[in-house]
Amino acid sequence: MTNSCNWFDILSPSRQRKLLASARDGLWIAVDGKRLLNFASNDYLALSTHPKVCAAAKKAIDKSGLGSGASRLVSGDSPLLHELEHKLAAWKGFEACLVLGSGMLANLGLIQALADRHTHIFSDKLNHASLVDGARLSGAKVHRYPHLDLDNLESQLQKYPADKRIMVSDGVFSMDGDKADVSRLLKLAQAYDALLIVDDAHGTGTVGEQGKGLVVEAGVSGHECLLEVGTLGKAFGSYGAYVLGSSAMIEGLRQRMRTFIFSTALPESVIAGALAALDEMQITDVVKKLHNNISYFLAQAKALPLMPSNTAIQPLLLGSDEAALQAASHLREQGYFVPAIRPPTVPEGAARLRITLSAGHDERDIDGLIRALSNRV
Ligand SMILES: *Cc1c(COP(=O)(O)O)cnc(C)c1O
Repeated sequence: MTNSCNWFDILSPSRQRKLLASARDGLWIAVDGKRLLNFASNDYLALSTHPKVCAAAKKAIDKSGLGSGASRLVSGDSPLLHELEHKLAAWKGFEACLVLGSGMLANLGLIQALADRHTHIFSDKLNHASLVDGARLSGAKVHRYPHLDLDNLESQLQKYPADKRIMVSDGVFSMDGDKADVSRLLKLAQAYDALLIVDDAHGTGTVGEQGKGLVVEAGVSGHECLLEVGTLGKAFGSYGAYVLGSSAMIEGLRQRMRTFIFSTALPESVIAGALAALDEMQITDVVKKLHNNISYFLAQAKALPLMPSNTAIQPLLLGSDEAALQAASHLREQGYFVPAIRPPTVPEGAARLRITLSAGHDERDIDGLIRALSNRV
């Protein structure tokens, strides 16, 4: 019998991405049975395994069980969610906050709630897929500008007038580790009467005092033309996401965001974990520890072909896919896990190793990685 079902062809991309089943154990990761030091996680502050964070999550499970059982509007709302929203808003300097599922859900829902086919969206070419897809699903007209090229952005703002215009940008960019100029973006938003969305998923917990991120560092948090998005799945060591803005905007989103309304509320355990993680960022020197590791890495790795970045994301540009794959495999032999990032995640010919540093690493870990890299690239 011939198989007339041809969906497999449709679902089969030219390049297969492999899922690596890997058991994590603190900073270590077991891949194919080999224990490797992990330089591939976005758990920048090592909070996902922090005893206080885990204890808070366990306590929440003991008290209220595992799942939340319903969306927030039905019966899944929890006082802990409100506490987290208040604390995140205060910490980031915004009037209000909405916590929901993942960063992917946040961006899909946010842009769909704000934009329709009459809206024009101006988007950095290297923005995260969730912003790209959110814009696409909203039906808005999308104008992409070259990475960080705000002169080009401005000329496009001049060229495409519309009643509703939204500028969207990552804060710290996930594959390059470089930063958007948030203060200039906001000036452009004001000058051209646009709304600015900054997704600082990678800057939060990693940039600035207490890891408050790029928007606070630029001194523009709480501005009425500005929404900030972030995830609880990276430096917070947990899961979920948040949107920050004025009270009126956040209330509007609560009423309109379909990915908020029609999705099960976060489990109490991950909320309690995120609250404990926020405490750690505020009252301990865990963020400073990460900053020290970044400085130490940069000082020691001067001879390596690093891309310009002063964040926890340190990409090493290798060019061809083979070079990146071989370097990653060499590092695995030496006991280090660093992923090779290839097109289409990055442009053709810009394959790289994406090293992510964590507050959990110590100088010996970093020395070892640099030694393993130095005799190779
Ligand atoms: C990781 C990331 C997301 C997605 O967040 P999740 O909580 O993992 O879904 C969204 N935006 C940016 C910029 C990210 O780096």
